[in-house]
Amino acid sequence: IPGTTLTGLLFGDEPSDAPALIDPAGRVTTRRQLDERVRRIAAGLHARGTGRGSVVGLFAPNSPEWIAAFHGILRANAVVTSANVLYTATELAHQLVDSGASLLVTTAGLLDVATAAAEKAGIAEVLTLDDAPGHRRIDTLPGAAPPLLTGPGDTAVLPYSSGTTGPAKGVVLTHRNLVANVLQFSRMGRTTESTVLLAVLPLFHIYGMTVLMNHALHRRVPLVTMPRFDLTGMLRLIEKHRITKLYIAPPTAVLLAKSPLVDDADLSSVELVFSGAAPLDGELARSVARRLDCEVVQGYGMTEMSPVSHAVPEGTTMDPASVGVALPNVECRLVDPASGADAERGELWVRGPNVMSGYLDNPEATAATLDAEGWLHTGDVATVTADGVFSIVDRVKELIKYKGYQVPPAELEALLLTHPGIDDAAVVGVLDDDGEEIPKAFVVRRPGAALDAAEVMDYVAARIAPHKKVRRVEFLDAIPKSASGKILRTVLRAAEGPGPG
Ligand code: ATP
Ligand code: MG
Repeated sequence: IPGTTLTGLLFGDEPSDAPALIDPAGRVTTRRQLDERVRRIAAGLHARGTGRGSVVGLFAPNSPEWIAAFHGILRANAVVTSANVLYTATELAHQLVDSGASLLVTTAGLLDVATAAAEKAGIAEVLTLDDAPGHRRIDTLPGAAPPLLTGPGDTAVLPYSSGTTGPAKGVVLTHRNLVANVLQFSRMGRTTESTVLLAVLPLFHIYGMTVLMNHALHRRVPLVTMPRFDLTGMLRLIEKHRITKLYIAPPTAVLLAKSPLVDDADLSSVELVFSGAAPLDGELARSVARRLDCEVVQGYGMTEMSPVSHAVPEGTTMDPASVGVALPNVECRLVDPASGADAERGELWVRGPNVMSGYLDNPEATAATLDAEGWLHTGDVATVTADGVFSIVDRVKELIKYKGYQVPPAELEALLLTHPGIDDAAVVGVLDDDGEEIPKAFVVRRPGAALDAAEVMDYVAARIAPHKKVRRVEFLDAIPKSASGKILRTVLRAAEGPGPG
């Protein structure tokens, strides 16, 4: 297999009998078995006419079979569009139509949603990863090895952005983009022969896809798969497989810092916790580091960057509240959105081999994000030190404008989380009775804590500049979050009624 595609990078050498994938029941797939399954899937797909330019939808929770199907589709010279397992049939159908998928692959547990979506999208056949009556398994189709037609400039994956700020957008990522980011990311870490990883992040999202799946396959270290997040299950798998590095999003960091369940677990194998996808506060990072007695670092990225552009290198003393330094071959600018001039604090622009070629069939969105010189305008506000250490302030669109001041919700959320009576929090801008935008906090009380709105507001006011005060509080049972670990502010705003957009 030529070494210039993702397939070549990950499957180019002679497979060994080392464990590659381990499912929650402890079933091991060796490199040799994975390689063989990938070839069989590719052959079967090729025989049925799936090839160069074909798009295949993959809609299933994390499993060794998901990973084999993903790489089998690429090996058949085709393109994967991976879908969020929480999608309804309507949402899935939208992605299938938008991406031009001609085939859908799912699992027995999701057949109802998958077949309804396939019907809406005009897809004739739904294949499965496991046994399901009336459906063919993707790894049992007959066929011979397809020719290798894919090159580095070909599209490999059409992932969709998380849909945090608007409708999820299809992102065109080539083999070159994905190869670049696996290599760039690997340079920041200390993955060794004794590394064991846990796929607790969803693999359908680009963070888990690159940082867990492709990184583990590239470095030839075992990856334990978890089908869905649950804290107890995660703790048991860490103990059982002596997981050494934990790649997570901030909601899991909150649990690691605050849940009493953590006290009963043996997490002594964990050397590193790496957080990405949303802001991680420094105080929270330090409390996880203390409780697990391990290193806690952060990275930053977006679907459009395959996804990682910045990370704190392992084994450094860099501030965990920062997102670290730019990865190799990543250029950065900080730009004042108003004047377009370089600024010390401004919108982060990124250029590099990991940056997408554009949004799928969406020239307007592409033009608004990717400029003629190849700079990706991330929509995130950042600062940088003289040593090139970046910190993300917040999204440009999420900054609350209070009487002409800019208030970053992430800063208020981090402060609220330091209160012992608060288990979780989210802040959004809402309109007060005079039509002025004000910061409103949604707070999840710690069970048993007697905490009222006035106390929450006083706690924040005593620790922050007056213009950043929280001016309204509502208590909730849980903060709505996406599968990729982001606060769903649109849901919070919708509950509030018409807000400031
Ligand atoms: P959409 O673009 O559809 O609105 P989304 O931007 O949330 O959704 P993703 O591509 O999954 O979709 O997420 C990228 C965004 O996640 C970044 O633009 C940034 O706002 C946020 N992010 C990622 N890592 C970090 C981090 N370490 N700190 C702060 N924010 C982060
Ligand atoms: Mg985005």
